[in-house]
Amino acid sequence: MTGPLSTSDIREKYLQFFESKGHLRLPSYSTVAPDPTTLFTVAGMQPFKEQFMGAPAVFDGVPSKRVTTAQKCLRIGDIENVGRTLRHCSLLEMLGNFSFGDYFKREALTWAWEFLTGPEWMALDSSRLYATIYQDDEEAFTIWTQEIGLPPERILRFGADENFWPADAPKEGPNGPCGPCSEIFYDRGPTYGDDTWADYADTRESARFLEIWNCVFPQYDRQEPREDGTPVLKDLPFKNIDTGMGLERIATVVQDVYDFYSNDVFAPLVAKVAELSGHPYEGPHNVSHRVVAEHIRSVSMVIADGSAPSNTGRGYVIRKILRRASRHAYLLGLREPSLYKLVPLVVDKMGGAYPELQANQAKVEATVKAEEESFLRTLEGGIQRLGKLLSGMEQGATLAGEDAFLLYDTYGFPVDLTKEIAEEYGISVDEAGYAESLENAQNLARAGSKYGKSELFGANQEALDGLSLTEFVGYDALEAEGEVLALVGAGARLPHLSAGSEATVVLSRTPFYAEGGGEVGDTGRIEWDGGIGLVRDTRKTPQGVFLHDVLIESGELREGTRVRGVVAPERQATERHHTATHLLHAALRAVLGSGVAQKGSLVAADRLRFDFSHGAAMTADEIAAVETLVSRWISANFPVSWKEMPIAEAKAAGATALFGEKYGETVRVVSVEGDVSYQGQSVSSKELCGGAHVTRTGEIGAFVILGDENVAAGVRRVEALAGEAATAWLRERLNSAARAAALLNTSPDALEARVGGLQAQLRAAEKETVAVRRQLAEAQMGGGTGGAAPLRDLGGFRVAALQLAGIEGNELRGAADKLLDQSGADLVVVAGGKGLVVKATRAAVERGAHAGQLIGKLAAAGGGKGGGRPDMAQAGITDAGAALGALETAF
Ligand code: ATP
Ligand code: MG
Repeated sequence: MTGPLSTSDIREKYLQFFESKGHLRLPSYSTVAPDPTTLFTVAGMQPFKEQFMGAPAVFDGVPSKRVTTAQKCLRIGDIENVGRTLRHCSLLEMLGNFSFGDYFKREALTWAWEFLTGPEWMALDSSRLYATIYQDDEEAFTIWTQEIGLPPERILRFGADENFWPADAPKEGPNGPCGPCSEIFYDRGPTYGDDTWADYADTRESARFLEIWNCVFPQYDRQEPREDGTPVLKDLPFKNIDTGMGLERIATVVQDVYDFYSNDVFAPLVAKVAELSGHPYEGPHNVSHRVVAEHIRSVSMVIADGSAPSNTGRGYVIRKILRRASRHAYLLGLREPSLYKLVPLVVDKMGGAYPELQANQAKVEATVKAEEESFLRTLEGGIQRLGKLLSGMEQGATLAGEDAFLLYDTYGFPVDLTKEIAEEYGISVDEAGYAESLENAQNLARAGSKYGKSELFGANQEALDGLSLTEFVGYDALEAEGEVLALVGAGARLPHLSAGSEATVVLSRTPFYAEGGGEVGDTGRIEWDGGIGLVRDTRKTPQGVFLHDVLIESGELREGTRVRGVVAPERQATERHHTATHLLHAALRAVLGSGVAQKGSLVAADRLRFDFSHGAAMTADEIAAVETLVSRWISANFPVSWKEMPIAEAKAAGATALFGEKYGETVRVVSVEGDVSYQGQSVSSKELCGGAHVTRTGEIGAFVILGDENVAAGVRRVEALAGEAATAWLRERLNSAARAAALLNTSPDALEARVGGLQAQLRAAEKETVAVRRQLAEAQMGGGTGGAAPLRDLGGFRVAALQLAGIEGNELRGAADKLLDQSGADLVVVAGGKGLVVKATRAAVERGAHAGQLIGKLAAAGGGKGGGRPDMAQAGITDAGAALGALETAF
C-alpha cells in the first residue's frame, strides 16, 4: 500500500480519470464571476452556463462536449458555517465533469461510482456509500439499483429543496440552467454519530453521513414565473450533466482524518496558527484555529484573482471574511497583524495548481497586513466605545443585546470579548437579545446571498416601507441639499444618531450615485448645522430609495434635519472610467466583431473592468487597435450627452442595450457626440446607461488596457485604466523596465535583446549541465552496462537497484529507462539525492509487479512520499540510502 493520496494527487487523479473518459481538461476560472447576478463563482458549472443553454462548446478553439475542471469557488452563504460545521469551507475546490448535450445520467452516475470505488482511483469501501435522488426520478433509481447495484434501502428521495440544483430553483430561482440531482454520501462511521441513514430522511443534517458529490442533470432553463407565481421551466435544447465534488471533503474522507483541518492542506496552517498564538489546536480555542486557517485561504485566493477589501460588493465580502479571521486571531491573543504570515503556506500548498497565487504573493501579503492593521485599530475603537457604555451603567446591570450586536456589526467586536470586558465592570450581557439581533442580520444576509446580491447595509425592506423615492441630482451636481427621511440601523428605524455611530441614512434629495450598472456607489460627506457624517458608500433599493452608509463624525443627526451632501472628488475619476468603458465596448465591437456582448462590468475610481463574450484571447495587435480607437475619441474631445427617452426611440436610434437586462418604459441614453473611423467604417458609442459620465471625452485623458484574461467559457475580461490612474501605471511600468535594465547593465531600449542573449546563454549552460549529468550517471552505472547494479531476486522478480549521486529529475528517469533496457531486470529502482524512480517491464506488471505500491513503501522508509502507475512511479525522498535499504522487506 502507498500512503494516503495528497489533495494534489486526488485533484490530478480526478482530472486524469475524466480525461480517460474523453473529457477536455480546462484550468480553473477566476473566483470573480463574470455573471452580473453573482459576486463569486459558487460552482464548477458557473463558467459554462452559456454552453448548457446551447452555446457552442468550443474552448479556445478546441471543440469538446465533455469538459473536466477543478474550479475554485467562494460561497458567501457558508462563511458563517466555517468552524461551526465540519463540512463547510468558504473557499472550496470543486471537481467537476460536464456534458453539453453529450452523455447523460447513466454515464455520470456509473463513472462517479467507478472513480469513488475503483482500486486505481479513490478505492473507497462501496458499502459506505449512499445516494439521494429527486423524488420521482425513476431513471436515476434504476441506474443506482440495477446497473450499479446499490441496495434500494441506501437511496433516499427528496424534493426540490434538496435534490434540485440550484436548490428550490423552480420556485425561487435564479433563472438559467437547472435540474434534478443525485447526491452521493459517505458514511464516516459511528465516531461521528450514532444516527442511521434512515434517520437522515428526517434530520437532513448529519456529521456522520457526509455529502461528497452532487451529480446534477441540467435539463431546464428556469425563467421568470408567471404572474400568479407558477414556476416556468423550459426544456433546454439538450440534456446536460454537471457534477461537483468538494475536493476538501473527498480528501478528508480518503485520508481518513477527522476533519478538513487535519488534511494535508489545512494541517500545516492550523499548526502555524498554534505556533503563532501559543494555543495548541487541541484546546478550547479550536474554532478560532479553524476559522483563521480556512479564511486566509479564501482571502488569499480572491485577492490573487484581483479583488481587494472595500466597503462594497465583492470587496465588502472579502473585508468581512478577513475581519472574521482577524477577530478570531484576536481571541487567540494575537494583538499584532499575523494572518499575513500564513499566506506563504497557502501559496506552498495551492500555488502549484493555481499559479496566480504565486504570481501575486507579495500583493496578497501586503493587502492582508494593511487590512489587519486597520482592523486592529477599529477593535481598539470598539474597546473605547464599550468602555464609555459600561462606565455609564450600574454594577449588576445588563448590557442590551442590541448594543452588543452593534459593537460586533460596526467594530467587528466579538461578543465573547464584550462579555469579558463587561464582567470587569460587574455587568452582564443580554445574550439572548444579542443572538436575536445577529439572527435577524443573518437572515437578511442569507436572503441576499441566494441571488448573490450584496446586502443593503443591514436595512431591511420593512424599515424602508412608505419612504418616498429619492430625487437624484448627481448627474449634473456634486453637491446638493436634502432632508433626512429616515435613519436605519440593524434592520430598524432609529430616532437619532450620535457621534461615532454608523447607520443607513435616507435623504429626500441626493447628489450621491448609488451602486448600479457596474459603477460603484459614491462616497463623500454630509454636513449640517453642528455636525458632519462620512458617507462611505451609497446603494439603492430596487424601487429607488437611496441608502447612504454613514459614520457620524461629530454632532447628532435626526430625522428631519436638512443636510448638504458633498460627493468626494473620486467621482470624477469614476466618471472617466465609465465613459471609457462605453468607448472600450464600442471599440471592441468594431475590432473583434459584433459577436462581442457585454457580460458584466466594474467601474470604479481606480480602474475599470469589462467582461464580454468572445471565443479567443485577444492578440497584441487587437489590443493595440482597440486602445488606438479609444484614444481617437478622447483626443477628438467630443461632447458626451445623456437624455431620457422611450425605449422604442432609443432602440431605433441604435443604442446598445444589455441582453437579458430589464428596462422600464423610459430609458436613459448616453451618447458620445461624434464618431471615429476604423478600417473605413464609422464607429459610434450610444448606450442605455444610468451611470455618471464626463461631459467631454477629452476629460478621460490617458487610456491603457492592462490585459485580457479568460473568466468563463467564451467570456473574456479586459482591465483598463483612464486618466491619472493610467499615467501612474504607465510610469511605474517604465520605472520597472528601467530598474530591470539597470540590473542587467543595459538600457531599457536594449532590454529585450539583452534578455534574449541571456536566455540563449542559459540554454547552452543547461545543455552542458544535462550532458555532464548524463556522463556522471553513466559513469556511476558502470559505463552503461548496468554492471554497477547486480540483479537481485526479490519476491520472484529480478530487481536492479542503484544510487546515483547528484542526479535528479529527467536524468533520473532517463537513467531508470536505460537501466531497465540494459540490465535485463524486471524492476529497477534508481535513487538520486532527493528523488526516487521505480520502473517495471510490461511483463512484470502482468505478473503482478506494481511500481506505485513499491515506491510508497520505499519512499516511506526514505522520509518522503510518492506513488504512481504499475509500470512507473516516482517519489520525493530525503534519505536515499534508507529508501534502498528497505528493498528487501518491501516485497
Ligand atoms: P451542503 O448541503 O453540505 O451544504 P450543498 O448541497 O450546498 O452541500 P452542492 O451545492 O451540491 O453542495 O455542491 C457540490 C459539492 O460541493 C458538495 O457535494 C460538496 O462536496 C461540495 N461543497 C459544497 N459546499 C461546500 C463547502 N462549503 N465546503 C466544502 N465543500 C462544499
Ligand atoms: Mg450548501
